[in-house]
Amino acid sequence: MSGIESLGDLRGKRVLVRSDLNVPLDGTTITDDGRIRASIPTIRALADAGARVAVTAHLGRPKGAPDPAYSLAPVAARLGELLGRPVAFATDTVGESARTTVAGLADGEVAVLENVRFNPGETSKDDAVRGAFADELAGLADAFVSDGFGVVHRKQASVYDVALRLPSAMGGLVAKEIGVLRRLTVDPERPYAVVLGGSKVSDKLGVIDNLLGKADRLLIGGGMVFTFLAAQGHEVGKSLLEEDQLDTCRGYLSRAAESGVQILLPTDIVVDTEFPSAVREPQPQVVPASAIPADSLGLDIGPESGAAFAAALADAQTVFWNGPMGVFEVDAFAEGTRAVAQALTEVPGLSVVGGGDSAAAVRKLGFDEGAFGHISTGGGASLEFLEGKELPGIAVLERTP
Ligand code: ADP
Ligand code: MG
Repeated sequence: MSGIESLGDLRGKRVLVRSDLNVPLDGTTITDDGRIRASIPTIRALADAGARVAVTAHLGRPKGAPDPAYSLAPVAARLGELLGRPVAFATDTVGESARTTVAGLADGEVAVLENVRFNPGETSKDDAVRGAFADELAGLADAFVSDGFGVVHRKQASVYDVALRLPSAMGGLVAKEIGVLRRLTVDPERPYAVVLGGSKVSDKLGVIDNLLGKADRLLIGGGMVFTFLAAQGHEVGKSLLEEDQLDTCRGYLSRAAESGVQILLPTDIVVDTEFPSAVREPQPQVVPASAIPADSLGLDIGPESGAAFAAALADAQTVFWNGPMGVFEVDAFAEGTRAVAQALTEVPGLSVVGGGDSAAAVRKLGFDEGAFGHISTGGGASLEFLEGKELPGIAVLERTP
């Protein structure tokens, strides 16, 4: 599979780049611009090579029609600031504004097209509908670069179908992501530890399944841990519990025991009697994981567990972490996540953070991103890769015209 150099001399060529610019917004204020920054090297490389760069991306989940709340306009402005050069903005994706904006680009100039999901064809399940929209996207450009790692697991027009219609290449961000993820699945350096958290076990079943056969240690925290604790027969009070996954979790625990994979569950938990809200000060309390009061819910792993998790990572040559250890959005429940993040910055080997909320947690807690081996920009995509699934947006690049 080949990078942008495979597209030949780019001077004067119109290049459509699919980036992942799906950043969290508070009104029109970008609260975390990590994905924009991660998209810059490929956009800059194309512009520096003399291409006329049209960036296509989505923001949020608009319902296939224009919705000002999901406009990419603030993102285009931030991209311009970070690139240090002007970025034009088209107020539609493939219409009049897109056509004139792209036609107006000089060599080395960059434009952002309005939210691709304002068009029902982008995410349509109907191949013909998606294809018709992809024809319009492809009509704007001479070549396509796939650089939105966060969407390569989606069979969508701007990810998949457009690559069937234009000479296409893999952007540097996608290439880097895939390279790192291969190191987690093909012959990882050992000891290999996987830390899983986040809200639900049911989101992560495929990953646990696949990595149970590869990792040496599996550390579990976050909301999903209560289904494991309940599977061991503990009372979990009002904590997040997926009753229908109890048997599955029991299965994982016994599979791990049989195959010699060490599973680490927290021994202490930070609880409160209510889920954090804006109207009430948190009242955190540390209790043994085996004695969660019936009127309480677990919102973080406790300090003893944080230290034990850090110790289990201290000699790891490979670590993959997905999912916060607690409700890190609230300071009172962020310490478990902080302990794991800190430990990852200190591992001697490769440390990889996957998952949108985990990456956001690392930044919110003030860690230097450079202290981690790799922070993946794609939650779902990295999980599907680790489940061993084929990613349509990657596979299609092998079929490029
Ligand atoms: P990622 O995006 O990194 O894959 P997830 O989306 O699976 O992570 O989970 C992130 C969410 O999990 C966060 O919003 C966090 O507040 C929540 N969470 C973590 N621990 C708990 C818990 N004990 N109870 C409820 N929610 C939790
Ligand atoms: Mg998430």
